[in-house]
Amino acid sequence: MVYRNPVTKREQVDTLRATLREAGLRATLSRLAVLRQLGASKTPMSHAEVVDRLAGSGFDRATLYRNLIDLAECGLARRTDVGDHVWRFELVGGEGGHDQEHPHFVCSNCGSVQCLPADSVSIRPSRGAPRALRRKGLAIHVRGLCDNCA
Ligand SMILES: [Zn+2]
Ligand SMILES: [Zn+2]
Repeated sequence: MVYRNPVTKREQVDTLRATLREAGLRATLSRLAVLRQLGASKTPMSHAEVVDRLAGSGFDRATLYRNLIDLAECGLARRTDVGDHVWRFELVGGEGGHDQEHPHFVCSNCGSVQCLPADSVSIRPSRGAPRALRRKGLAIHVRGLCDNCA
């Protein structure tokens, strides 16, 4: 198999490298590739999806998983479980990043996940509502049929 470097544009690489270093991570080839994939995606990506996109790049699954966890732990990415026990990762801030916490839409038919604007769903706890609803950092998942399945 011919090794295909998944990161191509010089300038882009420099930016991604700087991003990793500022976060205290070594800019390894696989981390750069993972960061680039997340940055190019409008939706949060699972480990399996990242592995899929980078198939043929020569990185193994375990390394890519470790890279995703590293990015989440240093705060460059956010982890979300929309209820199917699969971690999905999305970049926080930066180009293509999702700055604020935001709700996700999950298709109950095909399982696809979309990011929703931060202010598209809000919770207003009424009298007598469980205290859990007043806590910060609630993860909001909206379920329904996506455009493809409706
Ligand atoms: Zn669907
Ligand atoms: Zn999102």
